[in-house]
Amino acid sequence: MDYKAWFQCIDGCPDRYDLNEIIYRCRRCGGLLEVVHDLERLKNRGGAAWIRLFDDRYKRTEYPYGSAVWGKKEWVCPAVANENVVSMYEGGSNLFWAERLGKELGLNDLWVKQCGNNHTGSFKDLGMTVLVSMVNQMIKEGQDIRGIACASTGDTSASLAAYCAYAGIPAIVFLPKNKVSTAQLLQPIANGAITISLDTDFDGCMEIVQQVSRQEHIYLANSMNSLRIEGQKTVGMEIIQQFDWEVPDVIIIPGGNLGNVTALGKGFLMMQELGVINRLPRIVCAQAAKANPLYRSYLTGFQEYQPIHAEKTIASAIQIGNPVSINRAIKVLQTFNGIVEQATEDEIANAAARGDLTGLFNCPHTGVALAALFKLVERGDIQKGDRVVVISTANGLKFTDFKIRYHEGQLDEVTPRYQQHSIDLPPRYDDVARTLEKVLRKRKGSGVRGQGSV
Ligand SMILES: *Cc1c(COP(=O)(O)O)cnc(C)c1O
Ligand SMILES: [Zn+2]
Repeated sequence: MDYKAWFQCIDGCPDRYDLNEIIYRCRRCGGLLEVVHDLERLKNRGGAAWIRLFDDRYKRTEYPYGSAVWGKKEWVCPAVANENVVSMYEGGSNLFWAERLGKELGLNDLWVKQCGNNHTGSFKDLGMTVLVSMVNQMIKEGQDIRGIACASTGDTSASLAAYCAYAGIPAIVFLPKNKVSTAQLLQPIANGAITISLDTDFDGCMEIVQQVSRQEHIYLANSMNSLRIEGQKTVGMEIIQQFDWEVPDVIIIPGGNLGNVTALGKGFLMMQELGVINRLPRIVCAQAAKANPLYRSYLTGFQEYQPIHAEKTIASAIQIGNPVSINRAIKVLQTFNGIVEQATEDEIANAAARGDLTGLFNCPHTGVALAALFKLVERGDIQKGDRVVVISTANGLKFTDFKIRYHEGQLDEVTPRYQQHSIDLPPRYDDVARTLEKVLRKRKGSGVRGQGSV
């Protein structure tokens, strides 16, 4: 079956552009573009038949359908031929049952979607596989594209670098100097991307990369490029699939440039339209208090919006004051009975660490989402019986600098309430035995969870 999708202006201009055209904004009004699917054609299969197809493919071996993104190819990017798909088996990440953390909060049904368990350690892979696949096809078709460029707060560049290295396409990444983690800086370098550190913030890098990509032959991979949204929208589909096609009550997601919350909403609306689900979850977007333009707008009922200068935050991947997808995100929040919440540095770091003590290993952005969860439970917006999913956006292993400084008590504006440390002992059994007895006795006294190890 021949499914169709094209770029079209989100503000409703009628022009359509092919997905293999190099275009990021509407030629008529300059607005952002989105990928629009021929839904009438997709309706030739009923909801139940789509579910069967997606379940048949899920995490199996036939390339590229075992990827949880490409397993939904007809809904994502039907224009790419299978032989041009650049996939590293993205998606299919664990939906972690946060039973103990839920119990602490008085929730029966709390889950954490572990998007950090993707190839480069963040959800950015879900979108990047689509974008790089499309560009790979454009190059094969003979278009003169010499590289793919992005500005990044760390994870986008890591993802772009890996997918480009896999496909043999040059990647050019712009990072704000000293504002990404060591692992995030190392990833594109190791993958051989042209890695450029600029003495500015993300918003400053964004301006440069837009100028660079105005030159022909350099393709822009930022999230204003809506091909990435198409891949990222599968995260909601995957959550539903992992719940045997039932819809949770609330989904909490951290937001910076606001592409991901936009994508989440888009995926749900598509599932509803195509008969896969019959209701929508509530969506909560969580921001760092140091970078909270969406939260400020929410406080005015979205009547007002001002870009801000984002201040330095430990949630470095969402240190963005002028989010490109602001309008799309507001639309999503209005449709999904949305809430926006914010978290201070202290709340972020402690929420991440508290979660870690129940078996997670949270990045600071997941900490932002968890801090929002704690607040919503506290004030009754989330209730005992609600099924709640927190989207964890990256793997904590990319943020060990943050974790070390937390446990050493060295983070600015943070009082570590869940601080842990290792115990140094001489290699003698007697000392080890005595210490263990002491520590275990103390842990028993204070419940399972001791504060500090000794
Ligand atoms: C990119 C990123 C975000 C923010 O996503 P947006 O689409 O920019 O809102 C959150 N967390 C992590 C770890 C990220 O890499
Ligand atoms: Zn337009």
